[in-house]
Amino acid sequence: MVAKFSVGLSAITLVMTLPVAAPAQSTGKAGAEPIRYTLSFPAPHTHYVEITASVPTGGRPQVELMMAVWSPGSYLVREFSRHVEAFTARGPDGRTLDVDRSRKNRWTITTGGAPTVTIAYRVYSREMGVRTNWVESRFAMLNGAPTFISLAESAPRVHEVTLALPQDWKRVMTGLQEMSGRSHVFSAPDFDTLVDSPIVAGSPEVHEFTVDGKRHYLVNTPATDTFDGARAAKDLERLVQEHRRMWGALPYDKYLFLNMITEVGGGLEHKNSTMVMTNRWTTRTRKAYVAWLELVSHEFFHAWNVKRLRPVELGPFDYENEVYTRSLWIAEGFTDYYGELLVHRAGLSTRDEYLEALSNQIEALQTTPGRLVQSAEMASYDAWIKYYRPDENAANTSVSYYTKGAVIAFLLEAKIRKATSGARGLDDVMRAAYQKYSGARGYTPEEFRDVTEQVSGLDLRSFWQAVVEGTGELDYQEALDTFGLRFSPGAAPAPDKPGKAWLGATTRNDAGRLVVTQVIRGAPGYEAGVNVDDELLAIDEYRVRADRLANRLEQYKPGDRVTLLVARREQLLRLPVTLGTEPSQRWRIEVNPAADETQKRRLDNRLR
Ligand SMILES: [Zn+2]
Repeated sequence: MVAKFSVGLSAITLVMTLPVAAPAQSTGKAGAEPIRYTLSFPAPHTHYVEITASVPTGGRPQVELMMAVWSPGSYLVREFSRHVEAFTARGPDGRTLDVDRSRKNRWTITTGGAPTVTIAYRVYSREMGVRTNWVESRFAMLNGAPTFISLAESAPRVHEVTLALPQDWKRVMTGLQEMSGRSHVFSAPDFDTLVDSPIVAGSPEVHEFTVDGKRHYLVNTPATDTFDGARAAKDLERLVQEHRRMWGALPYDKYLFLNMITEVGGGLEHKNSTMVMTNRWTTRTRKAYVAWLELVSHEFFHAWNVKRLRPVELGPFDYENEVYTRSLWIAEGFTDYYGELLVHRAGLSTRDEYLEALSNQIEALQTTPGRLVQSAEMASYDAWIKYYRPDENAANTSVSYYTKGAVIAFLLEAKIRKATSGARGLDDVMRAAYQKYSGARGYTPEEFRDVTEQVSGLDLRSFWQAVVEGTGELDYQEALDTFGLRFSPGAAPAPDKPGKAWLGATTRNDAGRLVVTQVIRGAPGYEAGVNVDDELLAIDEYRVRADRLANRLEQYKPGDRVTLLVARREQLLRLPVTLGTEPSQRWRIEVNPAADETQKRRLDNRLR
C-alpha cells in the first residue's frame, strides 16, 4: 500500500497520528489525475537519472510525497531515499515552492494553491542488484521503489513515465504498458504496478517467443556475444510451456525476462517480469546453465506463487514499514522446489541433475545447526532481522525458509501421493490454493494448511506442528520410500571408509593469514573453543599455510587428537581438538535399486 491519508490543512499532524498499517481504502479518488514523470540521462556515465514530475495537488495548500524504504520480495529496509539529491518543487509560474522534510523518505510541499506542482530530483544509481538502480554510459536499469517519489496517499492513481534516452540508446524494455502512439511513454494504473515494473533502457539484445498467444521477451543487457541468447530463449519457451501446463493458464498479457549481464547474482519476481543477474559465461558450461534455468524458473513460478497466490500480509504493500508474514517458507520455499522440478519436467535437466538439486537442498538444511533453533514459520517472520542480515553466527541460530520450505514441499508431496495412492500431489494443492486465494486478500497460514488437507484428505495438524512450527529433525524415510529413493550408502562413513577429518570451522585467506570466519555449533572446533577471527597458525606445531588447510586436514583421520595454534588479538593460544567427520555427502539421494513398480511409477509421475 502507499501510505494512506488525504493531505489537508493539518497534513503534518495527520501523518503522525493515523495508523500506518491501515488497509487501503477506496477514498473515492479513482480517476484521480495522473502523476507524470520524465526520466532523462544527460550524463549517464556519472550514474545519475534525472527525474521531473508533474504532481496534481487537488488544490490543497500542502501535499506530502514519499519514497519507498523497501522493495517487495526483498525483506530489508534499504533507505532508497539516501540516493536522492537536489529535490526541488516549483509552481506553474516557475516559482520555487517551500519543501519541508517530515521524515527520512517524505517531502511536504507548500503549494500556494497551485493545481499542479513540478518536482525535480536526481537519483544516484550505481548499485547493481535486483532491487536497486544502475546507470552507466551504455544502459540504465531502474527499479520502481528506489526511483519514484509519489504522493503519500492510499487511493490508486495513474502514474505515467516518459523516458528521454541518450542518442545512442535504442530501446526501453519494461512490463509497464506502452501508451499507444507515443514511443518510450508508459503508464501504470497505480503506484504498486509502477514499483512492480523494472525498466531497462539502452541497446539490449532482445529475443521474443509466444506461448498461448502471449509475447515473452528475453532481454539481455548489455548485449554480449558470450551468452547464447537464442538457445536460452528456446529453452525458456519450453520452460514457460511447462509452467503453463502445471497451472493451466498464463496469468499476464506479456512477460519479460530482464537478464542483466553482470558479475553479481540474484533474481526478483514481478507480476509480468523478472529481473535476474547473470554471469556472461553462463551458457558455456552445463552446470552454470542449468543453475541459471533453475533461477529463472524460480522467478517465473512467482508469477503465480507470491505475486498472485500470496500470504495475506504481502499486499497491499505498506512501502514505508516492514511487513511480517509467517508464510515465506511457502512463498519462497515451494517456489524453490518447483523452480528446480519444472526445469526437469521441461526436459532441461536430467534426472540425476534434478536429484542432485534436491539433495543439495536437504544437505544444506541438515548441515545448518540453526534448523534445530528456528522454525520455518519463524524464519519467515524474522526475515527482516535474520535472513537479510546474516552474521557469523547465522548458520547456528537460523534456517533458510527457502531451503526448509523446499524440503517441506518434498515431504508434503510424498505424503499426499502416498495418501491418495498417487492420484494427487502438491500440484493439486497449489492449483486449489490458487483458485481460492489468488484474489484480493491472500491466505493465512491456517488457510493454506486447510486447503492442503482438503486436497489430500489428511489431517495435517501434527505434521504442521512438527515440520512448519517446530524445530525437530525431519524424518525423510516416508518420502524416500514413497518414491523408491534412498540416501546413497556409498556416501556414508563406514569402518573401512571413515570419511574426511573435520574441524567444523570455515576460514578465509586474508592476505596470507588463515582467519576463521564461522564456527559451526557442536562441531569439533566449536567444542574446542575456536573463535571467529582467530588466525590459525599451526596444527600440531606445523605451520598451516593459508591456502593449505584442506590439504593438511587430509593428513588426519576423524577421531585424531591435534593441537591448534591460533593467534587471538595478538595472543598465541594452543587449543586441543578431536577432529570429527566431515558431514557433507551424507545426503545424496539416488534411486533405490530395490524400488518396486509402484514406487517407480510415483517417481515417474512426479518427475515426468
Ligand atoms: Zn523467490
